[in-house]
Amino acid sequence: MTSLPNEVYERIKSKLHPSPPDSWQPLTRASLGGIQILNLTEACYEVDPDFPFHPDSHPNLPLKDGRLSLMRFGICLVRLPTGTNVLLDAGVGPWIEEVEKCSGHPVPEKPPHALDKILQEELGLSLEDIHFVVHSHCHGDHVGWVGSFPNAVHVLHSKEYEFATYSGCPWKQDAVDRFEPLKEQGRLRLLDGDDDNNIPIDEEKCPQLTAVLCAGHTPGHIAVRIEGKTAEDEDMPPQVAFYIGDAMHFAHQVLDPDLVPLFDCCAWKSRPFLPMSNVETTWMPALRNNSKWHATTSCEARRKLLKRIAAEDALLISPHFSPPGMGTVEDAGGQFTYMAAAIE
Ligand SMILES: [Zn+2]
Repeated sequence: MTSLPNEVYERIKSKLHPSPPDSWQPLTRASLGGIQILNLTEACYEVDPDFPFHPDSHPNLPLKDGRLSLMRFGICLVRLPTGTNVLLDAGVGPWIEEVEKCSGHPVPEKPPHALDKILQEELGLSLEDIHFVVHSHCHGDHVGWVGSFPNAVHVLHSKEYEFATYSGCPWKQDAVDRFEPLKEQGRLRLLDGDDDNNIPIDEEKCPQLTAVLCAGHTPGHIAVRIEGKTAEDEDMPPQVAFYIGDAMHFAHQVLDPDLVPLFDCCAWKSRPFLPMSNVETTWMPALRNNSKWHATTSCEARRKLLKRIAAEDALLISPHFSPPGMGTVEDAGGQFTYMAAAIE
């Protein structure tokens, strides 16, 4: 474990919100070489920025200093020039009450924005208009609307499906209930491939999107790379975005990728303070014996992903970062900084 230089620590603290912004929008937009990116927000909560990092886990905690951080629960909609609509993750949905209980910091007078309403009111789309749902992983705040898209193919990494439906996984029943019916209907697509590859999601219908295995938060967690290019930009490099899922939850993890939240599965084994006496049983046998999987797997995945985002001059899109939930990353010799995008 390394200690952060003081100036970086101060910069993290300065990024925290002293209070929630006066307003937050249900939708922020970006465009990328002919592709429309719409970052939808279902809910926002003030949280203690030390949540969910345990004080024993990092030398620089606590961060809060009387401030609060804002945590979004979001979904990203990617609209391709061909008319194909791809959701990246399926949000919180009815699980919102659980999130509220967990956070302990509901934002009063700002009710959650339901996905179907946002689609209808802001974009004139219905749930039937979603063609693909690509899941970064199977945690409850990313699968809430699964089952609501009658025409969508759902895409997951095979390692994630294996983990989520393994007998020891704490959310096994939820994953089985949500995904087994889709499997029976032939609407579940499982991806294979390792972390150095861009794994095609559908080469015919959405060739602009590829999955990048980014394990640590969960064993089969993926980021999604989006590459846009128009005919007029032929001589230019493509415009790129990465949807990071839960590879990071807060922008201060860009500044300090070693901050490991309690719910990164890779860290469970080394955290005796977790209220799980049988952590060992939640691991797939294959993972227990896999030396590549250890407590800091998510930190390594974060660094690798951040390096790539910075090197490709890509837009970072997050379901949990404060509004607008997207921005850019700079890499100064392995020291990363995050600049939130201006809200349109
Ligand atoms: Zn999440």
